[in-house]
Amino acid sequence: MKNKLHILIFVAMAAGLIAGLWLSSLDPSTPLYENSIWLADLLGKTVFIGLLKMIVAPLIFISILAAIVSLASRAELWRIGWKTMAFYLTTTSIAVTLGLVFVLTIQPGLRGDRDMIRASWAERRAEIDHEFGAKTAKVDGAEGLTAADTIKANIQKIVVNPFKALSEGQTLGVIFFACLLGIALITVGKEGRPVIPIIQGMNAAIMRITGWIMAGSPFFIFCLITSLVGQHGPGVFELLFWYVLTVLVAIAAHVVVLLTICKTVGKMSPWTFLKGIREAWMIAFSTRSSAATLPVTMECVEENLGVRPEAANFILPLGATINMDGTALYEGVAVIFLIQLFGGMPGAEIVLTPVLTVVIFLTAVLASVGAAAVPDAGLITMVLVANAVGLSVEYIPLIFAVDAFLDMFRTSTNVMGDAVGAVVINRLEGDRMAAALATDGRDRVPRSRRNRPHDSESRVDG
Ligand code: ASP
Repeated sequence: MKNKLHILIFVAMAAGLIAGLWLSSLDPSTPLYENSIWLADLLGKTVFIGLLKMIVAPLIFISILAAIVSLASRAELWRIGWKTMAFYLTTTSIAVTLGLVFVLTIQPGLRGDRDMIRASWAERRAEIDHEFGAKTAKVDGAEGLTAADTIKANIQKIVVNPFKALSEGQTLGVIFFACLLGIALITVGKEGRPVIPIIQGMNAAIMRITGWIMAGSPFFIFCLITSLVGQHGPGVFELLFWYVLTVLVAIAAHVVVLLTICKTVGKMSPWTFLKGIREAWMIAFSTRSSAATLPVTMECVEENLGVRPEAANFILPLGATINMDGTALYEGVAVIFLIQLFGGMPGAEIVLTPVLTVVIFLTAVLASVGAAAVPDAGLITMVLVANAVGLSVEYIPLIFAVDAFLDMFRTSTNVMGDAVGAVVINRLEGDRMAAALATDGRDRVPRSRRNRPHDSESRVDG
């Protein structure tokens, strides 16, 4: 069953697409349409995404704790920590650069129906507000967001009551407290030792819950896709064709870069990697939340790619929280697209200079770090990038219609970036970690991997 899961998920996605297209052809005021969308939303969003989110905060807390108590020393933790941060920052910068190169080359904002969109913007905006009221309110609510606000807000999210962070799913706060507690536990030594097997047992139990949720994922994914396609239909793409194309081409280029890094630095063939993370990729694609996907990402990376749990438990939660390559790329492309399209109109009197492009690069990286790993988050933090260059939030609603679709691609790219990070750091640190654990004499390889025939090196190609 487990080996067939990706096939079942794929079939469910295709079936959801067909069911959604059929629903979108119905009159939205009919009871059949309303009830079907209601049911698909209830099962896909409320139940499935709810279940995944339910385990995310405890999973992050327990897995980081398990990772830290499994590492032999604080020096080892710092080394993995800074390498992870450096890796994530580098790949995010590459992603934004690729986005900028493609948007400046393709120039989607200068193509297609530019004049028509500019001339009819007021009416179009009214229609968009009517259809996407909730998104408009969120973007308008973020008006005035600056880099200083984002930095302060993130610090506030780190230094927070851990129970509040856990209950509100504030992952930065959970990570910070778990790190502190983990370091304290290894520092106290003998007194802390009895707690370690408990943490590892909890970690294994949470991953078991993930397995149960995953067993039902094809059905839930069918509901998610049906609801998404059923509510938006295929028509929205015509107007924004060049914009969508630019984002997708840039994302494809970034995926190639990630796979190249995986091959050259992580010493793992792209095929092995893609095969190993396909379930996480599909869940990210359909849930549009890298936080909700985290339990599955951890399972795929550890079970299929042979990344040591000590590494994955630390690197992946950090990645799901701060490393968003797809989001960063998208934010840069979106803001430049809107400048190309509306430049010179009231609230968009902007000339795209090299300095302004650098400002977009820097704020896109920052905004992606600050984005929550939930659907639509990139759309909101994009306001930071727009504000930094003086683009009024008035124009952002233009891209609402295709945002959910693009969110599928950027979220799955975010998850892929996290997984490549885990493979690379595992490769760079694997031997050292194994030696340190052997010297330390503790059997710390937790959960199901203990009985498995292969270890981290078995999946490394070349
Ligand atoms: N949905 C994305 C994620 O969860 C964030 C975004 O909206 O770009 O990774």
